[in-house]
Amino acid sequence: MADVDVALAGRSYRVKVGPGLLERVHADAHSFIEPYGKRAVPVVADANAKRLHGERLQASFRSAGHSIDWYEVAPGESSKSWDELVRLTDWLLDRGVTRSDHVFALGGGVVGDLVGFACAILKRGCGFVQLPTTLLAQVDSSVGGKTAINAPAGKNLIGAFHQPSLVLADTTCLATLPQREMRAGLAEVFKYGILGDADFLARVDSESSAILACDDATLESVIAHCVGMKARVVAEDERETKDARALLNLGHTFGHALEAETGFSDRLLHGEAVALGMVLAARYSARRELISLADAERVADALARAGLPTEISALGLDCDGSTLAHHMRNDKKAEASTVPFILLRAIGEAFVARDVELADVAAFMDEQLQ
Ligand code: NAD
Ligand code: MG
Repeated sequence: MADVDVALAGRSYRVKVGPGLLERVHADAHSFIEPYGKRAVPVVADANAKRLHGERLQASFRSAGHSIDWYEVAPGESSKSWDELVRLTDWLLDRGVTRSDHVFALGGGVVGDLVGFACAILKRGCGFVQLPTTLLAQVDSSVGGKTAINAPAGKNLIGAFHQPSLVLADTTCLATLPQREMRAGLAEVFKYGILGDADFLARVDSESSAILACDDATLESVIAHCVGMKARVVAEDERETKDARALLNLGHTFGHALEAETGFSDRLLHGEAVALGMVLAARYSARRELISLADAERVADALARAGLPTEISALGLDCDGSTLAHHMRNDKKAEASTVPFILLRAIGEAFVARDVELADVAAFMDEQLQ
């Protein structure tokens, strides 16, 4: 078991990582469960996560004399909606959840973001415990307090900063995750290395098969390392007002354009878009002579070895570079012809570049689309 603390004045919390944590939730989350007394504990669960791992959680609660009141969320991004938020907050109010109560969220980033936002606004803020069940949620979305639903105008546009009180990342859950989802999460693992830790990148590269095969010891130490990096960044820049937290968006501006162009569909998962986006950020850094082309290809090769997509020409997109650059400007809600981009000064050293001309990015994307 590995513990990582997120240090925030008055709101510090622990992230525990390891196999079998759902079987002992009653022990680790004791102080958040006990106040329910004889009332059932509200657990909001992704339908797949509940079907595959709900029984382990239920057994843990039962052994401590508690029962669960389940709320099931349909799998998929469409659950991060106003309609679902209304249903969920009504359900929580109906259950008499108070400001001092904690709601449990079992699932991937969709459920974590939805529950986190519902808890941010329920009676002006109640507590919540994250039980992330995807690799992406365990290394990224369950930690850091960004919560949101989607709006017709775009993803994650309605939200709040609201930190969880505890995160239990049970690596056993990942054994049932489809390989494609596992790989998408692995892209975010690579991200931590590429943006800030070349040694970690080398390690993830050599251990990617063990990660994809769900080797418990490898998962525990790799996930804890990522969470440790994210915890340090969040402690330094909780609300992304400095550059520190923005660096976590490496590959996301390029990736967002690809997600927008593919309609945020199953054609391209978020993590796959981030993998492509990181390759583009590296190659664009080489174009600007910040790193060598050889280094940029080193990034691409590591991602390709893990089975992640690295060439946008293979996506079969029916658009040109300026369409993609347009999506990037919309993503940042930027008025000007420049958009902040996360680029590389070296492998393991990302920075925020504020002088990137979108016309130049469009020309670069045209080359990459060939
Ligand atoms: P997800 O929550 O949609 O889960 C992916 C799929 O895996 C779903 O079909 C789900 O039913 C299934 N699933 C979940 N756990 C499973 C398990 N253990 N076994 C088998 N199947 C399982 O996707 P995700 O990738 O976890 O999260 C993506 C979301 O996270 C996006 O909405 C994104 O905006 C958000 N996100 C938020 C942050 C943040 O900081 N808040 C960061 C990154 C991403
Ligand atoms: Mg991401």
